[in-house]
Amino acid sequence: VAIIDEPVLVLNSAWQFTGFFPVQTALTNVIRGMALCMDANAKDGHYALYSFEEWTQLKPEGVRWIKTARDPIPAPDVVVLKHYGKRHQRKVSLNKINLARRDEHTCQYCGKAIGLQQVTIDHVLPRSRGGPLTWENCVAACAACNSRKADMTPKEARMPLRKKPHAPAFSPDTVRLPSGVARPAWGIFLQTG
Ligand SMILES: [Zn+2]
Repeated sequence: VAIIDEPVLVLNSAWQFTGFFPVQTALTNVIRGMALCMDANAKDGHYALYSFEEWTQLKPEGVRWIKTARDPIPAPDVVVLKHYGKRHQRKVSLNKINLARRDEHTCQYCGKAIGLQQVTIDHVLPRSRGGPLTWENCVAACAACNSRKADMTPKEARMPLRKKPHAPAFSPDTVRLPSGVARPAWGIFLQTG
């Protein structure tokens, strides 16, 4: 993989992980003034941010270098968007695999452990009554509980939920690294509580 296609970790303006850009896209954003390069390997640990002009004059340590006809350009390991970057914010998509993971492969009604094959998506407020397909309205359920609950709410069915469903926090194991090669500087930004 050419360096310009290698991944750069992207943070939003709140320094939250939002995803990865190829080096080329990351630098384009920096050149256009939409993002700043982070000196993520600096030993002083200040994580200072630089415009493109400042960045090319800096001699950052530990980065990849892009060979050009003139001076080589340092490829940032991390860029920070100037805007909150909501559009880029990575959300965990709602599907059976991720729902099962959030609910720890446990039926949220009877508490039985269920394998991925047996997991069903239960709408807490039933779909037939306008219940949306959202993290807050969906839980993993075994087939028996799902059919027993049918078109009722948990209260009507007298099947209390074991916990209130929430959108899962981002977790690094759902990140697919574009090249599979992590940079040492990324560790701190991929940690979650
Ligand atoms: Zn169950």
